[in-house]
Amino acid sequence: MTAHARRRAAVVAAFPDTIDAFLVSRVVNVRYLTGFTGSNAALLLGRDGIAVFATDGRYVTQAAAEVPDLECVDARASANALVARAVAAGAGRLGIEASEVTVSQLETLRVAAAENVELVEVGEIVELLRAVKDGEELDRLGRACAITDAAFADVLAELRPGVTEREVAWWLHTSMRDHGAEGLAFETIVAFGPHSAIPHHRPTGRELAPGDLVKMDFGARYDGYHADMTRTVVMSPAAQWQRDLHAEVLDIQQSCAAAARVGAFPRDLDAAARAAIEASGHQPSHGLGHGVGLEVHERPFLSAATSDPALAENVTVTIEPGIYLPERGGVRIEDSVVVSAGGSRSLTSSERTLIEC
Ligand code: ZN
Ligand code: ZN
Repeated sequence: MTAHARRRAAVVAAFPDTIDAFLVSRVVNVRYLTGFTGSNAALLLGRDGIAVFATDGRYVTQAAAEVPDLECVDARASANALVARAVAAGAGRLGIEASEVTVSQLETLRVAAAENVELVEVGEIVELLRAVKDGEELDRLGRACAITDAAFADVLAELRPGVTEREVAWWLHTSMRDHGAEGLAFETIVAFGPHSAIPHHRPTGRELAPGDLVKMDFGARYDGYHADMTRTVVMSPAAQWQRDLHAEVLDIQQSCAAAARVGAFPRDLDAAARAAIEASGHQPSHGLGHGVGLEVHERPFLSAATSDPALAENVTVTIEPGIYLPERGGVRIEDSVVVSAGGSRSLTSSERTLIEC
C-alpha cells in the first residue's frame, strides 16, 4: 500500500458515524491524500472504499503522473462533480469540510446535491491526521530544516554594520534557493535593534548598528514541506542585558522542547511557557508554537485557546518562546522539532547560544 493509500484509509477509519462519504475540497488535504500538487482538485472518499479524484483540464496530464492510482474526473468545478459521483455511488450523507467551504461554495454544493444527498459539516479530520508525520514527510521536513540551517550559516558570515534588514532577508532567500529550497516557507522576518521587540516585524531599510540584536525568523519550503526557525544574535559589542535576556529565553526554549513529549497536551505546554516567562518578570506575547508540515501553521497549535489532543509520536511542532522589551529589543529562539516518548528531537540545528558577530 502506498503512503497516500494508507493516509486515505486512515481518513475513512476516522469518519464520524454521521457520514457515508467525505468530500475533501481543501487542496492541501487533497495533496496529502493523493500526492497531487496542482491548485484545483477535490477527492471523494467512501466508507465502502470508493476513492475518486477530480481536477480540471489544465492538470489532467499532471494528475496522470502524480495520482496514477485513482480514477480522475475532469471538471473545473471539481468538488461539485464529485457530489454527483457521491450521489451515483448511493451515499446518503456526504461529509464536507466545515472549516474550508465558503458560503458561496456551500450554495453551489447544495445545488449539486439537490435532494439526492444530505450534506453534513464535519470537523478537521484530515488536519488532525496530518499532525502525525510518516517517514517520507519527516525526510522532507528534515531537508527543509537542513536548508534553513545552511542559509543561517551563510548569512551570519555576512552580518556587519551598515547592512539593512531587507538585504539580510534577501540573502536568506537566495541562500535557501541556492541550497535547494523550492521557495520560502513564509515571509522572512529580519529585525535589528529595537525592531527585534516587534514579534512579527517586516524588514525595512534600517541599517545594522554595533550593539543591535538581530532577530531572524525564516524557513525553506522543500517538496511541499515547511521549515520554521528563529535565531537572535547580536552585533558586537553585546550588552549584559542582551546576554541575560537571551539566556532566559534559551533556558525556557530548551525546557519546553524537553517537555514536548508523547502524552503532553498542547495547552499545558503553552501554559508552562507562559508561566516561565512571567516568572522571569516579563509578559508573554504569543503562543509557544504550532504544527509544521504541508502548511507552515497547522495542527496542533501550542496556545492557550487550543483544544488539540495530546501529542503523539512523530508530531512536528515549533517551540518558539520570545521575550520582547518595547523600544529596546527582543529575543526569540525557535526550532522545528519532532515529538517522541522521551522529549523532542530538533530538526533545525543551528547554534542556539548567543552568537556575538
Ligand atoms: Zn518562525
Ligand atoms: Zn513559527
